[in-house]
Amino acid sequence: MKGKNLKAQLSFLIELQGIDLKIGEITIKKKELPEKIAQMDEEFMAMTASMEEARSKFEELNKRRGDNEDKFKRGVDTLKKTKDRLLEVKTNKEYQAILKEIETIEKKNSDNEDEIITAMEDLDNIKGVLRTKEKDFDDRRSRYESEKQKIAQEISQLDVDLADCQQKSSDLRRQVRSELQKKYEIIKGARNGLAVVLVWKEVCSGCHMNIPPQLYIELQRSADLLSCPNCNRIIYWINQGGTDA
Ligand SMILES: [Zn+2]
Repeated sequence: MKGKNLKAQLSFLIELQGIDLKIGEITIKKKELPEKIAQMDEEFMAMTASMEEARSKFEELNKRRGDNEDKFKRGVDTLKKTKDRLLEVKTNKEYQAILKEIETIEKKNSDNEDEIITAMEDLDNIKGVLRTKEKDFDDRRSRYESEKQKIAQEISQLDVDLADCQQKSSDLRRQVRSELQKKYEIIKGARNGLAVVLVWKEVCSGCHMNIPPQLYIELQRSADLLSCPNCNRIIYWINQGGTDA
């Protein structure tokens, strides 16, 4: 193959290389994005669990406060009944016994009252913390939901792009002669998916090594299919603008 025909073949190869690289990128993204979603799901689940734990802790404390208030009301009631009994006593001994009983009840009631006050202070603090946490949780949840939706859209777009690239790739492959295609595939397999590379200012963009000046001149002038002496990739030259020195 020589001349014009080969030049056309090379430009098909350059295009094919671009498409194949894009297919590679899409394939990686198609693998990474669902992993990202899975990680986000995991984080969101942990956040939800922590939120629920905080809520149930608050509810538990609130219930305990209710129990304590009931206990306190019963204590007040008992105190009143016990005091009423004082009016019916007949002996001093009995009177002293009831006074002792009243003293015990009053002590217990006062302890209960202290407990209620402490619990209410705790509850107020926790309520504040919980409110901040709820707000943060809501923000993060809406961020999580919109981000997840965005990624899902991205994934379905990737499927569209991939089908498009695969179509283009097979169309291009039909244009490239089979022996050249074979060469392309072999180099691509051996050289990290990159078989056709630009050389600019004598530097091969595949291996970043310099090619001999004579070869560089030949590359710019001849229509032969040339390879990088270092990495063996198919090389081409397209004016990148500026001074090529
Ligand atoms: Zn090279």
